[in-house]
Amino acid sequence: MADTVKDPVCGMDIRIEDAAATEVHEGRTLHFCSKGCHQAFVGDPHRYGHPGTEHGGHEGHGHH
Ligand SMILES: [Zn+2]
Repeated sequence: MADTVKDPVCGMDIRIEDAAATEVHEGRTLHFCSKGCHQAFVGDPHRYGHPGTEHGGHEGHGHH
């Protein structure tokens, strides 16, 4: 009955206990499947920091 969360970088569902890295962003604790995803997030948190974007695609980008 482990809780699962979505890796904001790759969109994968992961178990919190299996997260390779965590990051607190704007008061939310985010979990990552790998160090690589964590590094990607840290490198560009605004690209990934919007939970409403669930498609994992690139549509809607371009506004900054
Ligand atoms: Zn990932």
